[in-house]
Amino acid sequence: MKFETIAIHAGERPDKAYGAISVPIYQTSTFAFEDVGKTRGYDYTRTANPTRKVLEDTIARLEGGKAAFAFATGMAAETTVIHLLKAGDHVVAGDDIYGGTYRLFQDVMRNFGLEFTFVRMDSQKTLEAAIRPNTRLIWVETPSNPLLSITDLEMVTSVAKRHDILTVMDNTFATPYFLKPIEYGIDIVVHSTTKYLNGHCDVVGGAVVTATEELAERIHFLLNAMGTGASPFDSWLVLRGITTLPLRMKKHEENATTIARWLEKQKAVSRVYYPGLESHPGYDVARKQMKGFGGVVSFELKGGIEKVNSFLKKLKVFSLAESLGGVASLAEHPATMSHASMPPEHRAKAGIGDNLIRLSVGIENIDDLLADLEQALNA
Ligand SMILES: *Cc1c(COP(=O)(O)O)cnc(C)c1O
Repeated sequence: MKFETIAIHAGERPDKAYGAISVPIYQTSTFAFEDVGKTRGYDYTRTANPTRKVLEDTIARLEGGKAAFAFATGMAAETTVIHLLKAGDHVVAGDDIYGGTYRLFQDVMRNFGLEFTFVRMDSQKTLEAAIRPNTRLIWVETPSNPLLSITDLEMVTSVAKRHDILTVMDNTFATPYFLKPIEYGIDIVVHSTTKYLNGHCDVVGGAVVTATEELAERIHFLLNAMGTGASPFDSWLVLRGITTLPLRMKKHEENATTIARWLEKQKAVSRVYYPGLESHPGYDVARKQMKGFGGVVSFELKGGIEKVNSFLKKLKVFSLAESLGGVASLAEHPATMSHASMPPEHRAKAGIGDNLIRLSVGIENIDDLLADLEQALNA
């Protein structure tokens, strides 16, 4: 089956009990045993739930993984993955990863004896130089947030295999519709399903996809032990969102491309970051490893923070809000919003300036989006 069909039919659909086409929400904490020591496949929802299972099977197939697990949030998924490690282990991560991931590593996991090095993942030399004898994991995000920088996944996995290091890729921005990291040798894919996979700004959720059965067993053990799994209702919402993922991603990309090209021509704009632009430093690698460039566009405004504030205030169709990947267009200011948890020195080093604005381009009519940006820029 092709991607669009898997998004609608994967897992146990129609359901076994009554043939419901919409996957039933098994809103139950516990399940009656058939006999002493014999379940009907489920015993307790923290461990596993039939609604969550259909979502997990769907995501696993879309990503081309062995198995997937659904979590309460993207951060719950990441927290679970990082617990594959133990005190004394070292992680190399990208220097412009999601702000919450950075906070989890620096402000939480470091207290438990894990060590982290943050580097720009744009060259094999930089990556190799960050590796130590105790490096157990490389954490990549591409396109990254908020600068949309591109990491060559084949480069990362070739270095990782040589040193016998596990690789994790946060595929929230591209989604499996545009990028399948496991095809490039990545071991574990993580998602904030809050974003494009659900796509409607009405749920928070996460997912982990593993390339091997062995990693799947370890992740499921941790999910159950730590209690980080997704609820049945949230799982159902994400499942419903995924059925239209291919249509939405096409439209997000079409609108984002038009907006990125339009922004490049504006006098008030000093720089545009979108991997689908020939001017983007990661353009060639993005074209090689992705089927499309996604729906997030960042740009820098000339004229300092006052100009940024007035632009953001004047937007009408774009809402000033964190998060991304939903049908509704959003604009945000990374320095004070999504990346406020990153210390200013680290932000500066990563190139996240105070005049940077990030757009999550929705699927509204492009004329309305362009008109909104134009009136806010020229006001
Ligand atoms: C939002 C996001 C997360 C965290 O997900 P939540 O669902 O908000 O917990 C992780 N990585 C990326 C790239 C994100 O955009």
